[in-house]
Amino acid sequence: MSKIRKTTDVILIGAGVMSATLGSLLKELAPEWKIKVFEKLETAGEESSNEWNNAGTGHAALCELNYTSEKADGTVDISKAVKINEQFQLSRQFWSYLVNSNLIRNPQDFIMPLPHMSMVQGEGNVAFLKRRFEALSKHPLFQGMEFSDRPEKLKEWIPLIIEGRTSNEPIAATKIDSGTDVNFGALTRMLFEYLQTRNVEVHYKHTVKDMKRTSDGLWEVKVHNLASGQYEYHTAKFIFVGGGGGSLPLLQKTGIPESKHIGGFPVSGLFMVCNNPEVIEKHHAKVYGKAKVGAPPMSVPHLDTRYIDNKKTLLFGPFAGFSPKFLKTGSYFDLIGSVKLDNILTMLAAGVKEMALTKYLIQQVLLSNEKRMEELREFIPNAKSEDWDIVVAGQRVQVIKDTVEGGKGTLQFGTEVVTSADGSIAGLLGASPGASTAVHVMLEVLEKCFPQQMTEWEPKIKEMVPSYGVSLVEHPELFRELHNATARVLGLNGKELVYH
Ligand SMILES: Cc1cc2nc3c(=O)[nH]c(=O)nc-3n(C[C@H](O)[C@H](O)[C@H](O)COP(=O)(O)OP(=O)(O)OC[C@H]3O[C@@H](n4cnc5c(N)ncnc54)[C@H](O)[C@@H]3O)c2cc1C
Repeated sequence: MSKIRKTTDVILIGAGVMSATLGSLLKELAPEWKIKVFEKLETAGEESSNEWNNAGTGHAALCELNYTSEKADGTVDISKAVKINEQFQLSRQFWSYLVNSNLIRNPQDFIMPLPHMSMVQGEGNVAFLKRRFEALSKHPLFQGMEFSDRPEKLKEWIPLIIEGRTSNEPIAATKIDSGTDVNFGALTRMLFEYLQTRNVEVHYKHTVKDMKRTSDGLWEVKVHNLASGQYEYHTAKFIFVGGGGGSLPLLQKTGIPESKHIGGFPVSGLFMVCNNPEVIEKHHAKVYGKAKVGAPPMSVPHLDTRYIDNKKTLLFGPFAGFSPKFLKTGSYFDLIGSVKLDNILTMLAAGVKEMALTKYLIQQVLLSNEKRMEELREFIPNAKSEDWDIVVAGQRVQVIKDTVEGGKGTLQFGTEVVTSADGSIAGLLGASPGASTAVHVMLEVLEKCFPQQMTEWEPKIKEMVPSYGVSLVEHPELFRELHNATARVLGLNGKELVYH
């Protein structure tokens, strides 16, 4: 019996924030294109994009110390922080466009204003933070950042962290009020609801099992319908693999040369969540500390006010750990199954190089609750065990590849867009800075996969994302104008940025 093939223009695999963003951009740019989405779970935004599975930081490099490094001469390199900040501005602009066009409503359901702070202890760290503050606060993108090492000021900013502190070690913090808490789960669900009103077919409980090229140059996707138990075959001119941690195994199935010699290193995570409303009320910020020596950048501890289900809450973490699963709902065979002939040497090299990291992650998994409380008490000296519960966060699959600088099997901490040479398929690997830069990353997918349409699409892209293709660093007046405008639309009211 010949199999029935259903053809469409675009297939998006996975209903996370990345597919949601790409689908929403495409619906505005090419409304006549037919789009299908296949998601193995029952609803959208249930894996890494879910509000309980990530930290909800609108990463604009306002507080994350790992985005600014110290150079040999003691100066602070802010170039990465500037890049990430610019990328987050694109997300703010696209979300504002969606709200202004009534495509999504109630931005307070997914984005809230929240001060972003960095906090360090010890003389050397305080001196670094001050130099970092001096470098950043002069820059237009970081206007409004404050620094303090005065106990009274710090007590006003972060009472929970200062009260009960007995150590005489110097302590300092920076604070910037233009930070945000983003509920990426709510945003993802909103975008999929909107897409479904625009004739996008979203198939939940459908797992993509295989992908191959057809003789007529299309991509054929084999899908397992979990409700009926049947296998279906769908073809498309363009496929986006937005499977989060599940993207690497799917890309490997395509056989495209660009998917070879790449491996994945899964890192799991835990948060502690506060169950005491009095403690929750005493804190109002995202406070990022410094990663412990030997710890990977994604395990920088932070104490975050969060807005989840329209309720204020307080989370601490993440505690990184090791699990061979590529998705929270994945299988213990994910890691071993991703080792192929083409990437075995890359994976082995990484295994040897990252022995210390693996050991660190396993030690983290084995931490007792009391040990975790001890780490929390470095932030909240008076923290009581009964006020805190554990929640399991999402999985992050870090990319392993061979690089000129790092050699064979180098662990990457950023995101990587993998595209076939003809642009007919693209996938996203890696997890950081993650959901915050979804718009920037998906615009990159469009540029790589649809170069012939870009001239026609550019005016619409600029309507949706006005700073597209323009350096905000070189146009600080445009930055202020767009920052203030997006703050008004998204309800991030605070002090407007003004010219000095
Ligand atoms: C602990 C942690 C903290 C984080 N903190 C932040 C943060 O503070 N700020 C930030 O911006 N980012 C953060 N991130 C990163 C961010 O969560 C991710 O970058 C983002 O959610 C990835 O979105 P996605 O759409 O690619 O993947 P996901 O949201 O994981 O979605 C992928 C979807 O694909 C589905 N899928 C997978 N395989 C298949 C298949 N074969 N067939 C059908 N469906 C499939 C999955 O079920 C899932 O729904 C964090 C991540 C973690 C884990």
